Parts: sequence; structure tokens; C-alpha cells
Amino acid sequence: MRIIRSPKAMQRQALQWRSRGLRVGFVPTMGYLHAGHLSLVHEARRRVGPDGVVVVSIYVNPTQFAPTEDLAKYPRDFARDSKLCREAGVDVIFAPTDSDMYAGREDGNYSTYVVEECLTQGLEGASRPTHFRGVTTVVAKLFNCVLPEVSVFGAKDWQQAAVIRRMVNDLQFPIRIVVAPTTRESDGLAMSSRNRYLQPEERAQATVLWRSQQWVRQEVRKSSRGVSVDRLRQGVVALVAECPAARLDYVAFVDPDTLRPVDSVRRGHRIVLAVFVGKTRLIDNGAI
Ligand code: AMP
Repeated sequence: MRIIRSPKAMQRQALQWRSRGLRVGFVPTMGYLHAGHLSLVHEARRRVGPDGVVVVSIYVNPTQFAPTEDLAKYPRDFARDSKLCREAGVDVIFAPTDSDMYAGREDGNYSTYVVEECLTQGLEGASRPTHFRGVTTVVAKLFNCVLPEVSVFGAKDWQQAAVIRRMVNDLQFPIRIVVAPTTRESDGLAMSSRNRYLQPEERAQATVLWRSQQWVRQEVRKSSRGVSVDRLRQGVVALVAECPAARLDYVAFVDPDTLRPVDSVRRGHRIVLAVFVGKTRLIDNGAI
């Protein structure tokens, strides 16, 4: 396994792979890897086969964090990440620095961003207004460095995956986007690098995101017709209220593709929610 730091070197390598006809699968991450990330690596390997190349990027992208968010304290452990990647059969870790990715940004000499204007409006986009501009920009830049044929994203960040799909489609990136299922702890909590911020009593209450989904699924499946959003929202609000450390940021019931809110919730729709547990903001979603 190789570690490549500079975008130029990554691009040179990618062009060489391309000229040799090698298939390249790519998993972008912010590091502090867990089994969820590794499931995306295995999916990338499945897609490109044993003779293909799997690249994981590890880059905590500053432009997707608001000034009030956790950029400085975002967990990092490159040595551990490298070991996990090597064991998972990754061929290359691409780990650029801020000065490589955004040279001149501090001095106002970086001014190009990629913006998706529709799917980013609600949900995470409403709670974190500058977030998706950072995500689409960095993913476009990473795609230009790695030149993958296929890139794997997690269903855990459902809106992000939809936005990336739209960007790839709208801007004609010749890349297949694959969305892999959410990996969970045994009690249902979606794996996340941010889970490490949780104090023990918060960790116990954090299962409320999963329990809310399960409850909603049950209610919808009991009914032969659609269930009203108001009723489901009230139920989720009540479940969250039982957890003293938890505060609901939003819960929404959406069409899985357009992300538009629905009035009456049926099987096939999606619940999407964000909950603060202590100071940690957790997101999750699931098919209903
Ligand atoms: P992050 O490092 O949090 O930016 O995530 C990098 C990629 O891993 C994104 O595509 C996420 O959706 C995905 N991911 C994060 N957590 C999980 C999980 N629990 N299961 C599956 N994929 C995940």
C-alpha cells in the first residue's frame, strides 16, 4: 500500500493506471475509520475486482465545516487508519494537506466552488448552510485527482449521496456512484467517527435515532394506508424527549430520490433525522 500526499502525484499515478487500463475504485473519507468505512472499501474492491485499484482518501475538508463546528477537534489517527486500510486491501491512501487542496484560500486566492442548488436546500443543508458547497467542491477535486471509474458512498449520509449523484450527473463526471448500506453497532447506533465524542450515558441515549426509525417503520407497516407526518413526528419527538441528553434538530419524511417531504408516509419513503446528544450532532436515516 502506498500513501500519496500531493494532488499532482495522485493525478500522475491515476493517469498511469488509466493508460494501463486498470479499473479504479475510490472511497472518500475524513479518516478515523470504522467498520462502516471499511464496508465501502470492500464494496469498491468488489466493483473493480482483484486486478483493479482501490484508493481511499483521508482528508478532513475544512470547507464543509462552519466556523462554529468541530473542525479543529475532529478525531484523527492516521497511523491507525493506515493499518486498517492495509488490512482491508487498499492499494493507495490519498491524504493531501490543506495547503495542497486549497492553496491561496487564506489570502483570497482560492475562489472556485461547486454548488448543487436543489437537493442541498433542506435537511442538512438547512441546518448547515455552507456544508454541501464544501462537500461537492472537495469531492469534485478528489475525483479530478483520483480519476476513478467507480466511487462508493455510505447510505448513512443519504442526502450527501443524493447530492453527489446529482453533481456527477449534471457535470458529466464519467464515474459510477455506488451507495452502500449503513453499518451499525449491535444496538442499532449508526457507526460514525463522531460517536467517540459521546459520554457513556450519552452513548446509551444515542440509540434514540435507531429506535425512532424502528418505531416509524412499525407504525407505517401496521397501516394499510399512509400515515400522517404529524403523527409520526409527534411520536419521534416523544421518544427523543425521553432522553435527557438528546435534543431533536429535525426529523423529516421524504421521497428517497428527490428528498422532497411527503404528506402521507408509506413504505419506500425515507425517514431522515438529526439529533444532538450532549454537544454531539448525530444524523441517521432509513427506508420505511
Ligand atoms: P466520513 O468519513 O464521515 O466523511 O464518511 C466517509 C464515507 O463513509 C461517507 O460516504 C459516509 O457516508 C460513509 N459512512 C460513514 N459512516 C458510515 C456507516 N456507519 N456505514 C456506512 N457508511 C458510512
